[in-house]
Amino acid sequence: MRHDVEEVAARYATAIPTTFLSLIGTPDDPIGRQVIPHPDELISAPSERADPIGDDALSPVPGIVHRYADRALLKPLLICPLYCRFCFRREHVGPDGGLLDDAALATALDWLGEHEQIREVILTGGDPLMLSARRLGHIVRALDEIPHVTTIRIHSRVPLADPERITDELVAAMETDRAMWLVLHANHEREFTVEGRAALKRMQRRGIPLLGQSVLLRGVNDSVPVLEGLFRAMVENRVKPYYLHQLDPAPGTARFHVPVEEGRTLLQGLRGRVTGLAWPTYVLDIPGGFGKVPLGPDYVDTGADRVTDPQGRQHVLSEL
Ligand SMILES: *Cc1c(COP(=O)(O)O)cnc(C)c1O
Ligand code: SF4
Repeated sequence: MRHDVEEVAARYATAIPTTFLSLIGTPDDPIGRQVIPHPDELISAPSERADPIGDDALSPVPGIVHRYADRALLKPLLICPLYCRFCFRREHVGPDGGLLDDAALATALDWLGEHEQIREVILTGGDPLMLSARRLGHIVRALDEIPHVTTIRIHSRVPLADPERITDELVAAMETDRAMWLVLHANHEREFTVEGRAALKRMQRRGIPLLGQSVLLRGVNDSVPVLEGLFRAMVENRVKPYYLHQLDPAPGTARFHVPVEEGRTLLQGLRGRVTGLAWPTYVLDIPGGFGKVPLGPDYVDTGADRVTDPQGRQHVLSEL
């Protein structure tokens, strides 16, 4: 067992910042499960893939992923504040690699400048808020100079995972004339610590709107009360739940899998009971690089001419 865990840690990056460590009661609690290596990570199911959402095939130059016409991902580094045991990029992320060097970053920025259909640049990785304030500022200013880029989005787990990194200097580096949005990755209410909430405020005070993204995970947030707690914690901290992701089938992540039908039923349990502000879109990134689609739950069945209300009663659509 001990030996297996060492093998897992050798194969997949592992890190747990102090704030997160203090939240862990047992290795199998909702926080521990997310970050502590487990022997089952060595078991790969046939349906699992090293690159589950097909990023590699859609990369015109290093650091860029372009799948949708109007937006592209820019991955300036592959370092994270912690390493999620369910990460969809787990074969790539890690502490000792993936920082685009100056030349590669310049090439990626040139590519964005040459493609006028790109309206939005999504900084992801790895975690862009692991960059130094100086390097992040350099990237944001370079994007500021591309006339067709109107929107910059940063995907990050840092504000709650390692709140001390959200210094005034780092937040100042995010300042731009473009619309800057931050999408926060959080999977459980307990992640919203006093320090984490203060870090969120430091960004909000500078006018950065916050959205939330979560992954539906077995043993972490696979119940109605826990999802309710998570989304309420977001709303109460001025974070609008944006996406609840179906788990991407990366190698060794089967212990986190929740079937889609169960996910839909869980969300149905929130409808009508919890403020509409707390309602994310449940999405699947279709394995193989086919893109993200909403998974419901659906309340309208146009074929059967029916709409279902939150209490489960059915109404005839064409008569409404
Ligand atoms: C998820 C993703 C996006 C962002 O999609 P939204 O639906 O706009 O949040 C953009 N590009 C790629 C390659 C993605 O995987
Ligand atoms: S923070 Fe995101 S990229 Fe980093 S390990 Fe977690 S899921 Fe993967």
